[in-house]
Amino acid sequence: MKKADVVILGGLSGITAGISCRRHYPDKKVVLIRKEGTVLIPCGIPYIFGTVGGPENNVIPDGLLENNGIELITDEAINLDRDKKIVYLKDNEEIEYDKLVFATGSNPLVPPIPGVEKENVFPVKKEFDYLKKVLQKMDGVKNIVIIGGGFIGVEFADECRKRRGVNVTVVEMQSHCLQLAMDDDYCDEAKQILEETGVKVLTDERVISINGGESVESVKLASGKELKADLVILGIGCVPNSELAEKVGLELGFRKGIKVDRFMRSYSDANIFACGDCCTKQSFFDGKPSGVMLASVATSEARIAGANLFSPVHHNCGVISVFATIINGQAFGVAGLTEREARNNNMEIVVGKAEAPDTHPGGMPQSTLLKVKLIFAKDTGAILGGAVSGGKSTGEMINVLSACILHRMKASDIVMFQMGTHPALTSSPIAYPIVNAACKAVLPLKGCE
Ligand SMILES: Cc1cc2nc3c(=O)[nH]c(=O)nc-3n(C[C@H](O)[C@H](O)[C@H](O)COP(=O)(O)OP(=O)(O)OC[C@H]3O[C@@H](n4cnc5c(N)ncnc54)[C@H](O)[C@@H]3O)c2cc1C
Repeated sequence: MKKADVVILGGLSGITAGISCRRHYPDKKVVLIRKEGTVLIPCGIPYIFGTVGGPENNVIPDGLLENNGIELITDEAINLDRDKKIVYLKDNEEIEYDKLVFATGSNPLVPPIPGVEKENVFPVKKEFDYLKKVLQKMDGVKNIVIIGGGFIGVEFADECRKRRGVNVTVVEMQSHCLQLAMDDDYCDEAKQILEETGVKVLTDERVISINGGESVESVKLASGKELKADLVILGIGCVPNSELAEKVGLELGFRKGIKVDRFMRSYSDANIFACGDCCTKQSFFDGKPSGVMLASVATSEARIAGANLFSPVHHNCGVISVFATIINGQAFGVAGLTEREARNNNMEIVVGKAEAPDTHPGGMPQSTLLKVKLIFAKDTGAILGGAVSGGKSTGEMINVLSACILHRMKASDIVMFQMGTHPALTSSPIAYPIVNAACKAVLPLKGCE
């Protein structure tokens, strides 16, 4: 029987956990088992349908495993014997482990809408061959309906509308698309940009049936409207893939995620760890269960799990929730709590806003207006959240804000930032919007910290 010190089941966070383990424990033999021959960059999936042109242009190179001395087995783990510490694979192979990591991810949520099983209705699976089929089916279709206006739905819409002769409609049951991720002012801007590209965005609307013969022909909305549809994308969220964990008796928690402690150890078995979409998460802010599933969270958890396999090194401080997206060249980023979330939780907050071109002077080629909003707790002055919209620098600015949140920086700390600036690369040092938004919050926070 094959033996390994560490066996990992999974893809994106599995690779990250393996690399982290090998960094901390270079003598350990690590084997990664994954179902797919090729693992996709999950966040790049919407771009397969436009910008990158196909799944083959959106893969995580296996060289990462090879370069880090991790053995890859392409197969599916179908059972475990936790007492004997053996993983059973579909093709009858057995592997003995010392430590096991579940990084089995998530599956798309398929809502119980009548007609959801019809041909050309596609949940967003992270599978190479499946997505190749969806791409082929897209050729020649005229009307695409996307159910769900979260960031996956919006990114799909922005990519699909680039296909010639296609009408794209997003149906969202909240009053705004991206509402669960961003404040209304940012949602409105995103909707306007999406609509300017020709995408129809229907908010406060719910799909109640998917109609047609064998294949979808239309979708019916609760308002009575009927939309023509030759192809439907379901972008309404994901659920943890914890079936195997449940089968072998590991305790599950919130939304059936594998229950883990702050060291990413499963509650039920000290030799089994879990990371990424398949396991439970707590909010960084209040420790309550969090349903956020993001690559930023998954890979952070994976680094922690890999480091802790043979002795505790790091602990997980919880989900900050940082993400960015881009619609027709306009980027949006959010880290931590939105203003809406903070107010809904009855938190007393101070908001600071600032904007400036992302070059100085603003007349530089490709200059874009950057808008920044920062949210601070009134009692401590600590930053709780931030939002940025603008050009490509939005992606890294929001990461700066995530770091500020992680370290519970105060407005008065951010005011003292010494930001590196350059005319072609950043806003002016006088107008740097993160610093200026903090400056605006400092006065109202005076005496509260
Ligand atoms: C369309 C889309 C766009 C996204 N964009 C972003 C983004 O821009 N930014 C962001 O932060 N997040 C984004 N996300 C979320 C992000 O992709 C997930 O949070 C991330 O993929 C989670 O990684 P994971 O390793 O936990 O799980 P997964 O990526 O789901 O990987 C799990 C792997 O485990 C394998 N597996 C499962 N069971 C077994 C088994 N029994 N044996 C062997 N292998 C098994 C699966 O085949 C799969 O390869 C996006 C998600 C989607 C669907």
